[in-house]
Amino acid sequence: TRGLAETDAEVFTGLTHELDREQNQIELIASENIVSKAVLEAQGSVFTNKYAEGYPGKRYYQGCAPSDEVETLAIERAKKLFNAGFANVQPHSGAQANGAVMLALVKPGETILGMSLDAGGHLTHGAKAAMSGKWFNAVQFGVNPETHLIDFDEVERLAKEHRPKIIIAGGSAYPRIIDFARFRAIADEVGAIFHVDMAHFAGLVAGGVHPNPLEHAHVVTNTTHKTLRGPRGGMIMTNDEAIAKKINSAVFPGLQGGPLMHVIAAKAVAFGEALRPDFKTYAAATITNAKALAATLHERGANLVSGGTDTHLALVDLTPLGITGRDADEALERASITCNKNGIPNDPLPPMKTSGIRVGSPAGTTRGFGVTEFQEIGHMISDVLEGLRQKGEHGDAAVEAEVRVRVRELCSRFPIYPS
Ligand code: PLP
Repeated sequence: TRGLAETDAEVFTGLTHELDREQNQIELIASENIVSKAVLEAQGSVFTNKYAEGYPGKRYYQGCAPSDEVETLAIERAKKLFNAGFANVQPHSGAQANGAVMLALVKPGETILGMSLDAGGHLTHGAKAAMSGKWFNAVQFGVNPETHLIDFDEVERLAKEHRPKIIIAGGSAYPRIIDFARFRAIADEVGAIFHVDMAHFAGLVAGGVHPNPLEHAHVVTNTTHKTLRGPRGGMIMTNDEAIAKKINSAVFPGLQGGPLMHVIAAKAVAFGEALRPDFKTYAAATITNAKALAATLHERGANLVSGGTDTHLALVDLTPLGITGRDADEALERASITCNKNGIPNDPLPPMKTSGIRVGSPAGTTRGFGVTEFQEIGHMISDVLEGLRQKGEHGDAAVEAEVRVRVRELCSRFPIYPS
């Protein structure tokens, strides 16, 4: 058979550009990672052809024995990895997983309580622009303006006042370990279901370097593509049998049609990888590296939201440097360093500008960067930011060009997908 390069040169060229970008840029987007060749192979496999509506042993179509085989592997490995009694590995994404939890456990119009977007929460936790904010009575908590930590007095007050059906913890830009026991106590006080969305830190839990929310939550969702280093997708776990039944019905037929069997095969591969001892080393290094990067940025004049990080990500407040998140992430991209602008708690600037950037260590750690490399990256970022501070919003082209060379040299020493 002819390969893609021959059959569709245009798309093949796009793939080549993406591989080149991933190889030669430093990837600091906290929600991204670099999957193994085995994960890529499973996801690019013949399972893309298969319809398998239903669950292992209970399918609506014939020809599902191999699908049952890989989905059962994914489920059993997920359960082992997170010490869970039940796992549904079919959600197409993290947003779908959260949507399925709502569909299973809350009715439209009922009250939900989650962390607000500007405090580091996710759209699916009750933001106005999302279904979670439109179809439910969404009440939102924030962080303490001084400590930037979840304000549990506020969570408790809101829970008692609004009696939510469900309380959601977890976020996209919260750098600290969340006190799950405290949340559960509040949920119990008001008779709410406690849901943890561990999308960002699931890999750290799998690696044993972060508390496991399943010990406290009624239901846990996550994405499989962030710190967990699998294909893009979602999953749902619980230790409660009654909730498990409702979750299965909510995912299919409630919210989705046929599962993406090629993605589920890749999830099984990634969970298998995460069960190996070297994943513990990876997870620990991811945190050490994030701390090293954050400390360097702080030494060079930026503030850190909450004063640092316990996880794979840091939220960097650029206010002391007098520059915006938008100018920073654009200048850094010109210098071949990829991250995203991000609001800081009580950010005076709008979401398209912001006062901060979010940086993360999962992808860099996968390609082999250690503390020395992350400190060096911290200096490269600070040099670019200093250029912005001195020259204004368009930055210092000479400094950016010089950093681009340093990035290329560093990346060439740590190739991704080496043959
Ligand atoms: N939940 C959290 C906490 C996230 O950070 C994200 C993605 O950034 C999601 C859910 C949604 O995941 P997906 O993009 O796969 O829908």
